[in-house]
Parts: sequence; structure tokens; C-alpha cells
Amino acid sequence: MIGTYFKERMITINKDKYYILKHKNGKCYLIPLTIKKSKCKKRKKTCLKKSKCTKCQQKCLKKCLKTCKKKSLKDYKKIAIEVPKPQGVKNVPTHIHFYLHKSFTKEQENRIRRGISLLLDRWYTHHNQKWDGGTNAGTSELAACTDRYATKKFKPVWAKSSVPNAIAATNLAMNQFTQLIRDNGFKKSPPAIIDPRSSTTIYAPTASTKRRVPLSLQINPKQLDSQALTDLKLSGSMFHAWLHRAGWTDPKVTSYFISECPMCIMRNLNSKQPAFPDSGNYKFFD
Ligand SMILES: [Zn+2]
Repeated sequence: MIGTYFKERMITINKDKYYILKHKNGKCYLIPLTIKKSKCKKRKKTCLKKSKCTKCQQKCLKKCLKTCKKKSLKDYKKIAIEVPKPQGVKNVPTHIHFYLHKSFTKEQENRIRRGISLLLDRWYTHHNQKWDGGTNAGTSELAACTDRYATKKFKPVWAKSSVPNAIAATNLAMNQFTQLIRDNGFKKSPPAIIDPRSSTTIYAPTASTKRRVPLSLQINPKQLDSQALTDLKLSGSMFHAWLHRAGWTDPKVTSYFISECPMCIMRNLNSKQPAFPDSGNYKFFD
């Protein structure tokens, strides 16, 4: 299904909104890319010549196109990563999929794959430990580690009720990660795009909703080549970015959930040591 999009030009406006650009009778039309059939009735055709793009703060849609139309799927390679099946979690897809920009080298691709797989392992282990042989009341090592250090901003932007502590926040984050994995694997969210970026390490904007959020990332290829960014630090940096996709916000410093939970992953769930200050880890967060 995704493959057919290669024939048309796909663009993105405002990060998460994807559109297909079509030509008909000398006019250009944008068709919002929605994957689920039930949404088809909402498809709207917009003539570029007539309409203003409200999604881009009233700027002309043509202007948007100029900056966005580089994003043709021809520039991307589709990769699939196997998803392990944790106990007590139903409806898990066999794979998640990404469109990886072709400018990444094979070595860089392998590092990205390893970072994602390490995170999926962490997610898998968390759920198994929480399932605790069927009680579903266990505390995972990740939650226990985070609980020792995180004291601030447990609540994601979409949550209506408060989140009492770091254990509850970790459980909520991992459940939301399950949602993101399902939406990706069952093609309910827009394609997850991995683009290069020239600064920092790994960036993703904070998502305001729970559903259909793509696991898109921007990754600095230079950092992938650097030995300072170990596999553990890479997966922690990626997890920080995906916590933004899951709705958590910065600051990316000591005591805050969005920092402490990924830093536990970076320390392989070990305790903090004075010789290795937090700043050596959160410098890899965006
Ligand atoms: Zn951040």
C-alpha cells in the first residue's frame, strides 16, 4: 500500500501532516495522506492556486510547497525492524517501518537499527517485568531506576489527570510507546521518516495527541560516527526524542522525567556515579 506513494510526490507540512501532490487538468491538488479507510470521506482536494494554507499560518500554500517538496519518498529507503512480543501486551505488530533518508551510510543505518532494537528490547523487558507472571502489578527495573531520580514533570501534555510518581510515569510512557508501535506497525500513523540534521544529536517535536503520531526523527549523522555516542547513549537519546513524540516535554536536565528515564537506559539501569555527571548524558538530548 505504501509502495504506491512512490509514484506521486509526497510532501509534509507542519511536521506531521503528509500530503500527496497530484496534477490534474493543469492544476495542482493536495490530498491529505490518510491511511485508514474510515477517514477517506474526510479527504479534501485543495486547489493550490485558490486557497491559502491555514496550516502554515496563512502563508501561501505554494510557498509551503517550495520548502516541502524536496521530501519525495524517492529519497528514502524503507527499513523494517522486528518487534518482540512482550507478555500481557496484545495486538503487537511483527515489525515497525521507517523511511530512512538515503544520505545515511550503511554503517549509520546499522547504528540507527541497533538503537531502535535496543529500545524495543527495553520496552519488551519493561512489559514482561510489569506483567510479573500475570499480576500486571510488577515494577520494571526501568521504572524502579527512574523512580530513584525523577521528581518533576511526570505528566504528558495530553493527560487529563495527574501522574503521581515516576513509576506511574514510566508505565504510562511505555504504554504510549506501545500505541506508537501499533500505529506504526499497523499503518495507522503517517510514515515515520528519519531525516539527517546538521546539529545536536536526535530531535523530534513534542506531539500533542495520543493517536496516529509518526515515530519520525531527525538524526545527526556526525554523531552516529562518533565513538562518544555509544549504543546505550544512542538508544537513550532516541528514547528522549520519542518521549517527545509520546507527549512529554523538556527541560532535559536532572530530576525531570524526560531526562531521568532515558538516562537510566544510558546507564544500563545502574545507579548514578559522581565520576559520570548527568550532563555527559543529557548533552545528547534535544
Ligand atoms: Zn527534549
